[in-house]
Amino acid sequence: MCRSRYRELIQRLLRLDAAGIIMPAGKWSSPTDGKRNSNGRSQIVTGDQPLAGTEIEQFVMQQTLFGAHSHIMTVPMWAETGPHFRSLIGYAGSDLECAAGPTVIGKWPVPTTNDEDYKERYFELWRASRFTGYCRATELACRDLLGVEYREENAEAIGQGIARLVGDDPAASYREVLRGRANIRWLIKDSVRSPEETRDELYPSDFVRFNYRDDELLSIRSRADVVRREQWWGRSVHSVGDLVDGLNGSISSCLETGKITCFKIGLPYERSLAFTEPTLHEAEKAFSRLMNVTPGVTLDPSSAGAGVLRMSRCSAEELRPLQDYLVHRYVRRAEAEGLPVQVHTGYLAGSYGLLSNISVMDMASFIMRYPRVRFDLFHAGWPYTEEHAVIGKEFPNVWLNLAWAWTMNPATMERTLDSWLACVPHKKIFAYGGDVGQPMCEYGYAQQARIGIGRVLSKWVQRGDMTIEDAKEVARDIMLLNGCRFHGLEP
Ligand SMILES: [Zn+2]
Repeated sequence: MCRSRYRELIQRLLRLDAAGIIMPAGKWSSPTDGKRNSNGRSQIVTGDQPLAGTEIEQFVMQQTLFGAHSHIMTVPMWAETGPHFRSLIGYAGSDLECAAGPTVIGKWPVPTTNDEDYKERYFELWRASRFTGYCRATELACRDLLGVEYREENAEAIGQGIARLVGDDPAASYREVLRGRANIRWLIKDSVRSPEETRDELYPSDFVRFNYRDDELLSIRSRADVVRREQWWGRSVHSVGDLVDGLNGSISSCLETGKITCFKIGLPYERSLAFTEPTLHEAEKAFSRLMNVTPGVTLDPSSAGAGVLRMSRCSAEELRPLQDYLVHRYVRRAEAEGLPVQVHTGYLAGSYGLLSNISVMDMASFIMRYPRVRFDLFHAGWPYTEEHAVIGKEFPNVWLNLAWAWTMNPATMERTLDSWLACVPHKKIFAYGGDVGQPMCEYGYAQQARIGIGRVLSKWVQRGDMTIEDAKEVARDIMLLNGCRFHGLEP
């Protein structure tokens, strides 16, 4: 089927009533309500319109998702969502920045919202970027949730639509967008390191769970970092043992909430995943070097006592044994608790990230080192999607995760899922995670993923490599059940 025909059918599936009129926000029946809206019309069969997409594509569009990785904002933050077209930007801000090219010193690539030419410049950059996955997901969310196209001439209508969508009862509209419209059963929210961050008034406990994450500790680099730890943990830190005790205490307090389902390592934003095997002695040597106060060496202006103390700065190489030692202790705690470890691999959000840090292959020996720890490797490892495949195939303790991936590059992810299904047990694949904060974007990213997954499974059926029933079983597993099993949650 040609792309424009497919798009037309999907649009019909997603938003048109029998007369072909865009349904206003809030008029849809929830996908969890069954297949009929309040008029008794099916969402799939829109009046006399033909069925949209193939049978498996329709099935996938209705399939509940497991959000294996999310940064979903709190309900109070959702209540404060600005009635402004920018609220829908999601990750697309990075593409606008990229489209703008190198920035003049002292200037932002996109003017601030207060500038007179903000709207004009913003949409100029939008038009330059609008076929990327980031932008298309925003356009999809805008079309479906607000009933208008994401265009400059609709700027005001988009703002008004957002205000209407958030409405007078933000707790209800938050739930409606995520559970109803996006049809997501669970979101694994990244991340917490104190129990207060999991409170029910922030995140509804019937569909949000959390990972524990403390990259700052695992990439510890200065005496100032240690001082900050002492303040957070309310205890003195004089040794590597004290750091490990503090970390374990923090983890225990979070686990007591009953809402932590996994640990997370996000280190490629800071360093590579090539973890060494340092001894405690090597870690201690690095720690003492870090804490050493040597008059007249280097002033660290961010440290406690700046202007008074002069201390050694440690190179990345010198710090590595300490950081790696902490990573080992962290992962051993996960093993002791029987909890899985999520790992950021692949592309880095934003601009000018150090992309040489992102290869999962660097981590192969670490994965072998912990055969009883379940590793969840993120973002399809993009662009190393085939490296991901071989790691997923080689190691029974590895699961492969397409979180954020459909939005970064929907074209590559169709090829990726196609390839993975042909070589990795499908019970080891998580097909979705929005990896985003704004609920409207979570909706757009979820639908974008469904479209891609539907196309891939449709191909499997068309090639005769799966029956429709096979494809439905795979969809249920990769979209929902694998995530539930992995995180110990009910579907
Ligand atoms: Zn993330």
